[in-house]
Amino acid sequence: MGYRYSLSLTSQFPFCGIPLRLDTYSACQFACRYCFASARGGNVPASRAAVADHSSFARRLERVSKGFVSSVVDEFLAEKIPIHLGGMSDPFPPMESGLGVTLLHLLAAREFQQPIVVSTKGCGVASDRVIEVLAGGPFAVQVSLSTLDDSLSAAVDAGAPVSSERLRTMHLLSSAGIPVACRIQPVLPGRESEVFDLIEACAAVGVRHVAVEHLKLPIERDWPNRKRLDSALRMNVKERFELYGAKRHGREWVLPVSLRLPAVLEYRDHARRLGMSFGAADTDLLHLSDGAVCCSGVDLLGLGQGFRFNYLEAIRSAKAHGRVELASIEEKWRPSRSIAMYVNSTSRSRPSCTVETEVRAKWSSGSHGVTPASFYGVEAHNPGQHNGSAVQYLLNDEVRALMAPPGDHIVEHSRNGRIQEESIT
Ligand code: SF4
Repeated sequence: MGYRYSLSLTSQFPFCGIPLRLDTYSACQFACRYCFASARGGNVPASRAAVADHSSFARRLERVSKGFVSSVVDEFLAEKIPIHLGGMSDPFPPMESGLGVTLLHLLAAREFQQPIVVSTKGCGVASDRVIEVLAGGPFAVQVSLSTLDDSLSAAVDAGAPVSSERLRTMHLLSSAGIPVACRIQPVLPGRESEVFDLIEACAAVGVRHVAVEHLKLPIERDWPNRKRLDSALRMNVKERFELYGAKRHGREWVLPVSLRLPAVLEYRDHARRLGMSFGAADTDLLHLSDGAVCCSGVDLLGLGQGFRFNYLEAIRSAKAHGRVELASIEEKWRPSRSIAMYVNSTSRSRPSCTVETEVRAKWSSGSHGVTPASFYGVEAHNPGQHNGSAVQYLLNDEVRALMAPPGDHIVEHSRNGRIQEESIT
């Protein structure tokens, strides 16, 4: 069975640097207890998985390479914005060793030099054949990890390779010269101090960029994994969240920033001291990252600039003066074709519905979704027309001081993959 929507634009484009998602399998064979894909019904049993059609992916890349661009996805491909492979399901599940669907997609991407970030927990990504393909193209691999304890990882990330196997995978990849990032996600409640050990373990296996993201809980009461997560962590996680003062943000319970921020800054210092760049992957803290693509750090790993017509870039630009303005991203590339099929009915009802109209409309909507004020230290200011938008935002001095210095050269990786010691200030 073919997977029709294997390649699409995600709703995260107003703040994400790699909003193009590719999933080679429609269902994930792993069963991580915190997984949002399963919480939201976006995932189906692995036994009913449809697979993406690599030949249609290859034909699309070939057509785009010849200048035939007919959709918003094509525009992203033509601009060589890296694809995030593995947004809704892991691209290296056990079935990949027999089917090779992901490998075939990577071969097509290599032929047309399409940048890809492979997001996985699967060890198949470090097989000899896959490493050979990864070494020949603009690719990076991002492996997720939440604990060093193998028995706990087996309980929390059910069905996925345990932590020690994932660390070995990262070592094999980095030893072969493949840029590797590690997403420490989620930070498990009660094990916050283990993140320092995880960062050290990442440095020891050649990881170049480490991102940290705290656990969030879906608001859905009938979320099937709630009891399983409690059982794996031996606590009532929701009660723990309530005790910590978690707040509802959209459809998630999120720990208060007053708890997360000091920890994130310490994790960042630790990663930098060990020669890695850092991604603050909690959505409201993205601007405290090194670079513009928090989770994978693709812009720091040599895969291009990523997508920058977004709020994160406007906030990064405000470090110097504190004014968060749409004008600061006016020169950034954005696609022009319709995104109606990727957005909700409110957006679709607008006469023209493009990335640009959505970014402008949501800039001041405040009613739903992410606006610049969703980021820590950014506040709405001076209602009224300003540079064509309804609201101007200000970035406070505290956060300006905490943000990485402007200019990614500060943390660019040197040829041996390490950031320069003297640049870490
Ligand atoms: S590997 Fe990713 S998609 Fe699969 S269950 Fe785990 S978190 Fe969900």
